[in-house]
Amino acid sequence: MNINNEKAYKITVLSGDGIGPEITEEAERILRAVSTKHFTDMDFDYALIGGEAIDATGEPLPAETIAKCKAADSILLGAVGGPKWDNLAGEMRPEAGLLAIRKALGLYANLRPAVIFPALKSASPLKAEIIGDNLDVMIVRELTGGIYFGKHGTMTENGIEYTFDTEMYCVNEVERIARTAFELAQKRGKKLCSVDKANVLESSRMWRKTIEAVSEEYKDVELTYMYVDNCAMQLVRNPAQFDVIVTSNMFGDILSDEASMISGSIGMLASASLGETSLGLYEPIHGSAPDIAGQNIANPLAAILSAAMMCRYSLELPVFADEIEAAVRAALEIAATKDIYLEGAGKRLVSCSEMGDIVERLIIESK
Ligand code: NAD
Repeated sequence: MNINNEKAYKITVLSGDGIGPEITEEAERILRAVSTKHFTDMDFDYALIGGEAIDATGEPLPAETIAKCKAADSILLGAVGGPKWDNLAGEMRPEAGLLAIRKALGLYANLRPAVIFPALKSASPLKAEIIGDNLDVMIVRELTGGIYFGKHGTMTENGIEYTFDTEMYCVNEVERIARTAFELAQKRGKKLCSVDKANVLESSRMWRKTIEAVSEEYKDVELTYMYVDNCAMQLVRNPAQFDVIVTSNMFGDILSDEASMISGSIGMLASASLGETSLGLYEPIHGSAPDIAGQNIANPLAAILSAAMMCRYSLELPVFADEIEAAVRAALEIAATKDIYLEGAGKRLVSCSEMGDIVERLIIESK
């Protein structure tokens, strides 16, 4: 095991709004438990984002938060937003803080695993025989280019008004996301599926040509291509065929939501946003859940699994990630928060902090 005990890992926590503080508290507790177990120092710093930042400073992403994030080895985020700030103008809304921090840190790759834990198989809308025993798909979505950032506007031709959004990518953007995906595939099942619409779109043909060229550097990874409409169908027909999927911003937005449904609960899904350096931002895919905030009933496992991804992809502490994921798997065999609780399934109904207690205990007790 290669753990650098000399180094103190610096983690900035942006707990945000709603259930954000409740779930990040549990994730931080788990990081403290696993690092203490391995005699490793983790230093935590805290900064404001979203609604709490608007209330304190008048803006959703204060300069101090950007500075603290840049100075960290990694960032743990809860969630932002809530009805209190819903009437503010676009760039002043809590969610603008989220887009701005990704941009400020150059985070262009979004990683979303769709994993099924054996204890939650019955929560998936797919049949058990389709899911199989070890469903584990990773979707790599390009995050800072494509149609969401391309030219858009309106024009009039022959008296008819048109509105347009344009899908635009440069080769460099495709090359860098391709490398992220190939390197991930090398660490996993060594299979990469690139998803596009090359039968129709010029930008997709460039995407495919570029992926093909980059694949020369990763001969050990089996590369396949799929059109996005077929991929949407294959994800529910036979999701186990996939290891890593790489795709553009808009296709990834849609496919990752579809894939996340397979796992059954939004409270279980982690994500990572990565850029050129090892600095990454780790957050659950769910929002601030204002309907359950402050009640200690939220599921903290998506935040805890985000912390595991942080250990794997930013801190290069894969053993910590393995231990956290194993503890989550074991915890799900004995306990469930309200969102994943099934009457008669023999699990104990627990609160957010009790789930944190259980995962922490399992980590401390594991060999
Ligand atoms: P949401 O994900 O917050 O909630 C959707 C439903 O899932 C709610 O019923 C909620 O109670 C439940 N839920 C979510 N996370 C849960 C958890 N960990 N445990 C148990 N149940 C959980 O989505 P929404 O209601 O559409 O949005 C609420 C606010 O969050 C909005 O202001 C929205 O803009 C914001 N939002 C933020 C992010 C983010 O910070 N990344 C993402 C999505 C939405």
